[in-house]
Amino acid sequence: MAKKAVAEASPKSDRQKMVYYFGKTKTEGRGISKSIVGGKGANLAEMTGIGLPVPPGFTITTTCCDLYYKSGRQLPPGLMDQVHQSIAMLEKELGKKFGDRKNPLLVSVRSGAAVSMPGMMNTILNLGLNDESTAGLAAATQNERFAYDAYRRLINMFGDVVMGIDHEHFEEAFDKIKKKYKVLLDTEVPAEGLKDLCEEYKKVYKLHTSEDFPQQPLLQLEKSIEAVFKSWMTPRAVRYREIENIRGLLGTAVNVQSMVYGNMGDDSGTGVAFTRNPSTGENKFYGEFLVNAQGEDVVAGIRTPQPVAEMKAWNKHVHKQLLEIKDTLEKHYKDMQDIEFTIEKGELFMLQTRNGKRTGLAAVRIAAEMVREGLIDESTALLRIPANDLTQLLLPSFVPAAWAKADILTKGLPASPGAAVGALAFTAEDAKRRADEGESVLLVRKETSPEDVDGMHAAAGILTSTGGMTSHAAVVARGWGKCCVAGAGEVKIDAKAKKCQIGNRVFGEKDVLSINGTTGEVAAGAVEREEPTLSGDFAKIMKWADQNRRLRIRTNADNPQDSQRARDFGAEGIGLCRTEHMFFEPDRIKHMRAMILADNEQDRRKALAHLLPFQREDFVGIFTAMKGLPVTIRLLDPPLHEFLPHDKKQQDELAAELGVKSADIRHRTESLHEQNPMLGHRGCRLSVTYPEILEMQVRAIVEATIECKLQKIDARPEIMIPLVGTAAELAMLREKTIATIEQVKREKNYRNKLDITVGTMIEVPRAALTADEIAQHADFFSFGTNDLTQMTFGFSRDDINTFLPDYLRQEILHTDPFQSLDTSGVGQLVQMAVQKGRSTQSDLKCGICGEHGGDPASVDFCHRVGLDYVSCSPFRVPIARLAAAQAVLREAATKKAASKSK
Ligand code: PEP
Ligand code: MG
Repeated sequence: MAKKAVAEASPKSDRQKMVYYFGKTKTEGRGISKSIVGGKGANLAEMTGIGLPVPPGFTITTTCCDLYYKSGRQLPPGLMDQVHQSIAMLEKELGKKFGDRKNPLLVSVRSGAAVSMPGMMNTILNLGLNDESTAGLAAATQNERFAYDAYRRLINMFGDVVMGIDHEHFEEAFDKIKKKYKVLLDTEVPAEGLKDLCEEYKKVYKLHTSEDFPQQPLLQLEKSIEAVFKSWMTPRAVRYREIENIRGLLGTAVNVQSMVYGNMGDDSGTGVAFTRNPSTGENKFYGEFLVNAQGEDVVAGIRTPQPVAEMKAWNKHVHKQLLEIKDTLEKHYKDMQDIEFTIEKGELFMLQTRNGKRTGLAAVRIAAEMVREGLIDESTALLRIPANDLTQLLLPSFVPAAWAKADILTKGLPASPGAAVGALAFTAEDAKRRADEGESVLLVRKETSPEDVDGMHAAAGILTSTGGMTSHAAVVARGWGKCCVAGAGEVKIDAKAKKCQIGNRVFGEKDVLSINGTTGEVAAGAVEREEPTLSGDFAKIMKWADQNRRLRIRTNADNPQDSQRARDFGAEGIGLCRTEHMFFEPDRIKHMRAMILADNEQDRRKALAHLLPFQREDFVGIFTAMKGLPVTIRLLDPPLHEFLPHDKKQQDELAAELGVKSADIRHRTESLHEQNPMLGHRGCRLSVTYPEILEMQVRAIVEATIECKLQKIDARPEIMIPLVGTAAELAMLREKTIATIEQVKREKNYRNKLDITVGTMIEVPRAALTADEIAQHADFFSFGTNDLTQMTFGFSRDDINTFLPDYLRQEILHTDPFQSLDTSGVGQLVQMAVQKGRSTQSDLKCGICGEHGGDPASVDFCHRVGLDYVSCSPFRVPIARLAAAQAVLREAATKKAASKSK
C-alpha cells in the first residue's frame, strides 16, 4: 500500500512560526502544506481565504506536536506566547474577552492531522467558561440554562479528556441531579438543576484530581493543547495509523476556533451536507439539518433531522447562502465536498469541509460529470475512482437502507462480492435438486471441494465456515461472479442434521439467510436487493482507462459463458483456463475416475479417449467466444485423489458402474492419499508420470483449433504447463507437447501454420530462482501467485484462515497475502523471474493469473515490474482495466515529482 502522506520540513523562514491565524484580521495558513497545519486547519484557512463565513481561530502546527515528543513531552518554548498573541487577536476581532463576565470568548480545541483519523483524537468544546464567564454567557445570551449546560459539558469533557477522569463519575452525578429534580431526560433538567450539576461536577473533578477545576481560561487552553498532542500517541490512534498505513507524519495539528452555537433557539441550527449525492453521485445538494441543536445531536440520531431542501421554508436567506457556498466550494476544490455548518441566530458559519466519501456508483458519475463540467481532466477523473469500488456497479446489491436495518448474525470473509438470499442447503446435491425445482438456495458447507461445483453453480450464493480468500469456494465463486462468504467460523454446521448454529440461534433447511459478499456479513431473513444499472458514465470511464493503460487485461475462465461475459467486460483474452473444472460433470467424471483407477497405460488411454471429445468441444466453445483473442489453457493441475469419491456409498456405486470391486476402489483411493497433496503429485508432475494425459489434452486443443480454423474462427491457444520447478521438467514436457501438435496436424493433414505457443506457470520459488534456465523452453511465463504465495510463505492457502485473523489483529501482516500480493517478498520473486526470464528470451511474454490479478495494488505492482498482462475473474476485469490506467498515471506523477525535486 502506498504511504498516505509524507511530512515536509517547515520552510526555513517559518521555523519559529508555530501558530497560523485565520480570520478577518489575517489568514496565514493558506497554501501551507497539510503536513504542517493538518487537513482541518488547511481547509479552515482555505475557506476563510476565499471569503466564506468561518468562525475565526488559529492552528498550531504538527511541528509543535513533533517537538513536544522530541523534548520529552514538553510544549515547545515560545508556543504559548504565540498562542496568547493569537487569542488577543481573536478577542479584538470578535470584541469578546477570554473569561469575561459580560461577553466571554469561548473556543473549541480540536485535533487535525494531515490525514483524517475520524474519532481517534480529542476535542474540547466551550473552553473559556469558568464560574464568572458562565454568568457572563447567561447574561449575553439571556439564556441561563444554555450557559450552565455549556459549562457542565466543559467540566465533563475537560475532566475526561485532559485529566483522565472516568466519564462514569460524571454520569453518576448527573443521575443524582435528575433524581433530585424528578426528571428522566437530560433535556428536562431546569437551569437551576444545571447550576447544581456544575457544582457537583466540580466536586467530582476535585475528588479525582485533587485540584480545583481551573478558572483561568489560558490555563485551560494550555492543558487542552497538551491533551490533544498526547492523544496522538494513544494506543488506539497509533493502531489506527498502523492499520491504515499512515506513516511519516510529524503529529497532529491543534485547531483553536471561536465557538458558535446552533442551540440558541429556533433561529439557530446545525447540519451536515454533501455537495452531491454520495450514494448515486447525482449533482444535487444532499444533506440534513436540525433546528436548535448542536453538532453531536445530528450524529447521535436522537432527533430526526430535516433534509436541507426544507431549509428554504425555515430561513430562505441562509438556504440561498448555503447553496452559493456549495458551488464556491466545488469550484474551488474541484471535488465533491462533505461539509459541516452551524447557524447561530440566523447567521451561517462553516465549520468544516473535506472531500466526501462516496459509493462506487457515485464515484463514477461524479468523476465523469466533473470532466463534462470542465472542473477536472480525464486523468484526475480516473485517479479519483477507487478501482475496487467498481464491483458495486457490476453486481446486485442489498438496498443500503434495508441492509442497515438487517438482523446481522455473523461476519466471514468477503470472498466473492454480491448479495444473495436463499433457504439453506447443506449438501451440493440438495442445492442442485432444490435449485432445479426453482427454489433460491444458499449452499452452506464447512468448505467446498471440486465435487460440489454443480451445487455451487446452482445455488444463489455460498457460505462456508472455513477456508480463506483463495479457498476452493472463493476462487470458483469469484470466477462465476457468484456471491460467497467464506471462513465464517461462527457458523457451526451439522450437515447430517441439515442444520447450522450461529451464536445461539439454529437455522434449518426452511430458513432463509442473506449473505453480503461485499462485506462478509450474514443476516437472518430475506433482505431487499437492487440490480445494478450500468450507466453511460461507466463505459466512458472504461474508455478513458483503456486509452491510458499499458497492461493488457485477460480473464480466468473455463467455459464459453464466462468467457463471453468477461469479453463483454473488456477482457482481451483468457489468461487461465483451468481444465480440471471441465471433468466434474456427471457424464465425464466416470471416465476421469476410470482413468485414475486404471492400473496400466492401455486402460488409461481408453478412458482418456472417452474424455477427448468432451475436451475438444469445450475448447471449440471457448475459442469461439474468444475468437481473435489469446486463450491460455493450463494442463491438468490438481492431485488426482480430488476426483475420486471418498464415502463408501459413492465408492460402491462407482464400483458397480465400472464393473470392479469396491475394495479395489478403496485401495486405489488410499494409495493416492498424500500427506500434503498441494505439494504432492500434481501439476506437471502428473504429466511426467502419465504423459498420456498431456497427450489427450494437447490433442483436444489442436483438434479444436483446426476445427475452428476450418470454420474461419480465429482460435489462438497457448498451452501452459503448471507447477514447473526445473528447466528439465519443462524441456521434456514441451518436447512432448510439440510432438503431439505435429502429430495431430499430420493426422488431420493440416498444413497451415497453427501458431500454438507453449509456456509455463511460475508457481514454485525454484522456478523463479532459475527463470533464466526455464525461459529457454518457454514462450511465456504466467505467474501463479496463489501457489507462489503459498510456497514462499509456507502458508496453506486453504487453511490460512485458521490463523490469519491473529496475524492481522497483531499486525504481523497488514493484509491477507492471498488477496493482495506481498510485493516485498513474493513480489521480489516475480520481479527477479521477469528479469532473468527476459535475459535469455528477450521477447518472453509475462503475465499473472493468480487471484492477485484483480487486486488494484497488485495490478500496480505488475505494471511497475513490466508484466505484459494481468488475468483475473470476469467480474474483476473492469477493476483491473481501471487499476492498470491508474498505475500509468501514478507512475507519471511520481516521475514528474522526481524531476521537479531535482
Ligand atoms: C495459482 O497458483 O496462482 C494459480 C492460478 O493456479 P491455481 O489457483 O489453480 O492453483
Ligand atoms: Mg496454482
